[in-house]
Amino acid sequence: MLSLQNFDITYVKGIGPQKAKILGSELNMHTAYDLLHHYPTAYIDRSTTHTVREIRDNRGEYPQLQLRGRFVSFNVLGEGASMRLIGLFTDGTATLDCVWFKGIRELRRRIAAGTEYVIFGKPTWFRDTLQITHPEVDPPEAAEHAPGVRAVYPLTEKLRQRNISSRTIHSVIVGFLKSRNTPFHDTLPPSVVQTLGLMSLDEAIRNIHIPRSPEKLEQARLRLKFEELFYIQTDMLMRSRKRKNAIQGFMMPHVGRWFNDFYYNCLPFELTGAQKRVIKEIRADIMSGRQMNRLVQGDVGSGKTLVALMCMLLAIDNGYQTCLMAPTEILATQHFETISQLAAKIGLNVKLLTGSTRAKQRRLIDEGLRDGSIHILVGTHAVIEDKVVFRNLGFVVIDEQHRFGVAQRAKLWKKSVVPPHVLVMTATPIPRTLAMTVYGDLDVSVIDELPPGRKPVKTVLRFDEQRERVHKGIMAQLEAGHQVYIVYPLVEENEKLDLRSVTEGYETAQDTFKPYEVALVHGRMKPAEKDASMQRFASGQASVLVATTVIEVGVNVPNATTMVIENAERFGLSQLHQLRGRVGRGADSSHCILMSKHQISADTRKRLELMTSTTDGFVIAEADMEMRGPGDIEGTAQSGLPFELKIANLARDGQIIHMARKAAEAFLDSDPTISLYENNYFARALAAMVSRSTDWSRIS
Ligand code: ADP
Ligand code: MG
Repeated sequence: MLSLQNFDITYVKGIGPQKAKILGSELNMHTAYDLLHHYPTAYIDRSTTHTVREIRDNRGEYPQLQLRGRFVSFNVLGEGASMRLIGLFTDGTATLDCVWFKGIRELRRRIAAGTEYVIFGKPTWFRDTLQITHPEVDPPEAAEHAPGVRAVYPLTEKLRQRNISSRTIHSVIVGFLKSRNTPFHDTLPPSVVQTLGLMSLDEAIRNIHIPRSPEKLEQARLRLKFEELFYIQTDMLMRSRKRKNAIQGFMMPHVGRWFNDFYYNCLPFELTGAQKRVIKEIRADIMSGRQMNRLVQGDVGSGKTLVALMCMLLAIDNGYQTCLMAPTEILATQHFETISQLAAKIGLNVKLLTGSTRAKQRRLIDEGLRDGSIHILVGTHAVIEDKVVFRNLGFVVIDEQHRFGVAQRAKLWKKSVVPPHVLVMTATPIPRTLAMTVYGDLDVSVIDELPPGRKPVKTVLRFDEQRERVHKGIMAQLEAGHQVYIVYPLVEENEKLDLRSVTEGYETAQDTFKPYEVALVHGRMKPAEKDASMQRFASGQASVLVATTVIEVGVNVPNATTMVIENAERFGLSQLHQLRGRVGRGADSSHCILMSKHQISADTRKRLELMTSTTDGFVIAEADMEMRGPGDIEGTAQSGLPFELKIANLARDGQIIHMARKAAEAFLDSDPTISLYENNYFARALAAMVSRSTDWSRIS
């Protein structure tokens, strides 16, 4: 199987240079190995031939299916881009239209009216016309070569236009598999295949493309999913074991003046039980002599920043410098202000470094870092630039991990001979199985308790017709002296329109909420303008903040009790949850109003209603993942999976993830460096998988 990675797809029978080129650019398929790992997304029964009558009568949703009959006539309609060929098709029971937008001339040459064909495709209704767009059309003899279940492959529009169909891919793969008469060497360790009773790789590859029975297909899918997840788990575990065993960490055994001073004199409230527990876990790590890599998950408002600060104080007590990194300038600034305020009384030296720090200030910071007088450096990515040199950086906090990839974490290690302890904080709770995979090389702590006195944010769903009532509610909050956020979506593809609606919203708000002052913030404003607006809202001068999602990360205005989210149907659940976390930070009860247009799908409605029924970030994250798939959850695409999954699904294959994790642990116990002779082939497969795809450019 490994040798297939050098087998150029151009030389696979049935492909050739032209197809090879387009398969490469469209499907990233370059070798025979890629070809065999291009898995079907569905299987269809070609042993059954349907009738047009039954489809017409049913009027339901149909998958791709097979019909047998003749074309009565052909017509070319339209011009230019909308030119299309329409073939009126009948099987004697009823008629439907076959429609082609591309390859018309070639089709006219190949297909004649009156001749019998087997056609294959997905019937759809276009107004009152039943049609199949771009069906496959074959003489009956050709169709009979592929009886039984047939695989359906993912394609792109461009491939379809170039007449590369699912069937083309299928027949190339079938031909290739038939031409190989030696079985593929298994890529999993033999002990693992045996213990778990997995199907061999050879059988799995053959059955995934040409299933011999539903049971065989199931086994093949399991085997191939397991394989992907096993690579990932083995890779993660090896990395974390290596780190734990070999990488020394700074010893920070003391609790000293900074920590105590802060704890007894500055802490404005009692820590929650969860905060205490997590601080203890971190303390155990930094006293172990090994380098810490720990993820702290905690819902919005659970008090992660405070935990981070107290741990940094521990590091400072032991003579080390620390830094805290945030993904955006606004967030970095806010952290800087929070920490400066909290620690003002104890005289801690805290500095802020971002892309817009002036040269003069920057020189001062450089000096302070080198001579060790700066205790905490708060900043953006600017902090990990090579020219930033610390005297003795011992502890690093990264906020909002999902925008901060593995590669950047690795860069930090270069900042001192012994790598600093790394604490990653994320407010996006992610389901456990996903965490196990994407953060598999980190230890995980969870702050699963909110500070006391927080009242859950009351969330309601409202439609455009109810806007007046919503405005009255907002007015009441303003009159009671509270502040209000009004949030608009902003996505790149829609940027112009979105910017227009947020500015219009701003103007409307100014009219509606007179005499209260309204501020506006969106991602296209200059940083200085943005800061000025934020400042007006934070100081209480402005009562309403109309904003795009820039406020998602980190803004803390306890007096803001209401958030209105416009076009809520366009947001993901986790994003709504993050946004909602901006209110309910003070002692007063607070509200989140999800505004939506009336016409939304049942699914969307279900999503929005979930938001109104729970405030548990984990429940929301699970639901989000189930509904949208893990790829969509913000950041998972960037969180450093070593390669793209082709068949396993992080949302649905939780059980296989567990199975792979356990198997990887047992396997590495028996062969920690993967050097036993029998595991040779696996070692090479793993190395090929992981190196082939280490594309750090994905991480921004
Ligand atoms: P997170 O970063 O987890 O979203 P923050 O650290 O920003 O949460 O904390 C949210 C708010 O709660 C801050 O105003 C913080 O001062 C406050 N806070 C943190 N811990 C506690 C606590 N134990 N008791 C009361 N308030 C707390
Ligand atoms: Mg925070």
